[in-house]
Amino acid sequence: MTDVTSTAMLDRKARMRIPYEEPPERPVAERLKDFTETQLPLTPQRAIREASRCLQCPLAPCVKACPAHSDIPGALRKIEESDFLGAADIYRQTSSMSQICGRVCPHEQLCQCACVRNKTHEPVLCGALETFAADAARVHDRFFIHPGSPTGKHVAIVGSGPAGLACAEQLITQGHQVEIFESAAAPGGMLVFGIPSFKLDKSIVESMVEDLRHAGATFRLNTPIGKDLPVDHLFAEGFHAVFLGTGTSIPSGIKIPGIELRGIYAPNEFLARLNVRPEYLPSAWQGRLPIGQKAVVIGGGDTASDCLRSALRMGASEVTCLYRRTEAEMPGGIKDRELAREEGAVFHFLAQPVRFLGDTDGRVCAVECLKCELGEPDMEGRRRPIPLEGSNFTVEAETVVLALGYGPDPEIGGSIPGLEMQSNGLIRADRQNGATSRPEIFAGGDAVSGPDLVSTAMVSGRRAAQSIDLFLRTPRD
Ligand code: SF4
Repeated sequence: MTDVTSTAMLDRKARMRIPYEEPPERPVAERLKDFTETQLPLTPQRAIREASRCLQCPLAPCVKACPAHSDIPGALRKIEESDFLGAADIYRQTSSMSQICGRVCPHEQLCQCACVRNKTHEPVLCGALETFAADAARVHDRFFIHPGSPTGKHVAIVGSGPAGLACAEQLITQGHQVEIFESAAAPGGMLVFGIPSFKLDKSIVESMVEDLRHAGATFRLNTPIGKDLPVDHLFAEGFHAVFLGTGTSIPSGIKIPGIELRGIYAPNEFLARLNVRPEYLPSAWQGRLPIGQKAVVIGGGDTASDCLRSALRMGASEVTCLYRRTEAEMPGGIKDRELAREEGAVFHFLAQPVRFLGDTDGRVCAVECLKCELGEPDMEGRRRPIPLEGSNFTVEAETVVLALGYGPDPEIGGSIPGLEMQSNGLIRADRQNGATSRPEIFAGGDAVSGPDLVSTAMVSGRRAAQSIDLFLRTPRD
């Protein structure tokens, strides 16, 4: 076998000969017992060997496929040279949260999908290597944020999810003072409340928040912005600009008979109650969540996979996903779905729920569905499901989770005079620079694009910070 523990550069043939190894994961039986991360860290030797599989392609399609356009071959070369902190510094140039993106990005559909080695072999494990380098930097306390020379300008950031945190980090380095407003009792937004701990350990987000605090950011928690505290009050308080990174927090529902039965949950409540410390939750969510043995999750996105895997960790023995199209149309990441399957979830495709059935105590006991077939594509190009009359069947369920997607909170946009909105309730903003119809208000992340990746939200927060900086430095009459 080629010796890849030396730092001598290898030629292309030698790189091609290095065998692919599956990324290390905890065994299924072990990981189902807790909510600890599924993915295991790479050892330094393993990371060097994996990075040495990179062919250092001049055009590097992986870079183009990365939402942050990180210099992946440059970082992998540093890892190959055992310069792990140098690799982390390269990721840092384009990403405010490589420890997080390394864990939660669907790499198999982005950089690893584009990797040229994918054509004939397995791709280079860009995601695991990003996590490795970023974790090394965390161990060596290398995430210190260096504040820029003070400008005397204050920026209010509404929402502490990936867009808000990334925007804050960039503004601090430009010398601006930032205050982050968060409606929940803990910062992090969907990074804490939406992504389960078995994908992203909460301590990683907490460390990032601490980095920001050390660099001078302040957080105002339990402070929803909207009707009670309108954005224009923030300007009256002395803020010079506002960034809206409010995400999409309102779960989509389903209007079918039986929806009022107990045991039917929205995904935000379900995931938060199983993954977040009770003291961060509203009092109504603090009790034990009884799952039972049979759980049904309706939907086909990443949230559906997260709910399936959470239910399995709570001891449910029959966990079923109902989706009204086929697997080919499912919007969620392939890897998450594979992990859910491996852990015991069963996927039932072409199934349209039409009614929830309850027991005498008013608790859900089954979901009645119609079988579907696929018709013509809809406006988004996805083939429409057509329910087949008389094809009714039922799936038993003690718990049902409606993982049907999220929409924006209408109170945010509705309470800001002059802020143009899209017809679907999202904020109208320039995707490149976050500019809205009000010059002193910027927006980014899911609140503008609709539910998307952590990395795309992070990138939009960084871009908005550049335009906010320009706005604050431009002299005005
Ligand atoms: Fe390396 Fe794959 Fe990127 Fe080429 S496409 S530079 S092999 S990671």
